[in-house]
Amino acid sequence: MAMTRVATHRPQKLAVDRAAGLLRISWVDGHTSNFRLAWLRAVCPCATCAEAKRTADADPLRLIVGPGPSAAVTGAELVGNYALRIIWADGHDGGIYGFSGLRASCPCAECGGEAPALLQVE
Ligand SMILES: [Zn+2]
Ligand SMILES: [Zn+2]
Repeated sequence: MAMTRVATHRPQKLAVDRAAGLLRISWVDGHTSNFRLAWLRAVCPCATCAEAKRTADADPLRLIVGPGPSAAVTGAELVGNYALRIIWADGHDGGIYGFSGLRASCPCAECGGEAPALLQVE
């Protein structure tokens, strides 16, 4: 089987480890990524969260009080073969995480740590 750049962005196995608070992705090239659920929620790429981030950036004096959004996961489902939708315990499910963006944000030491970039669906 030929190795292509795209093929490395395909997950072979997806698992949510609720106890550890991690989304674990085993990629077809043998690499494994462990994403913190709290980080995934913080970078949720949906329109609602993007707008909330824009509002917060525009008003740096705005104080956000109270607990952050839920990082508990109810479920996850594949979107085509290119992305993952995560359904959070508070009902939020608009975020679609592209696999190429997830792979580019792999937080392991080998990949260079947790990237702050928003995930793009390609
Ligand atoms: Zn969102
Ligand atoms: Zn990595």
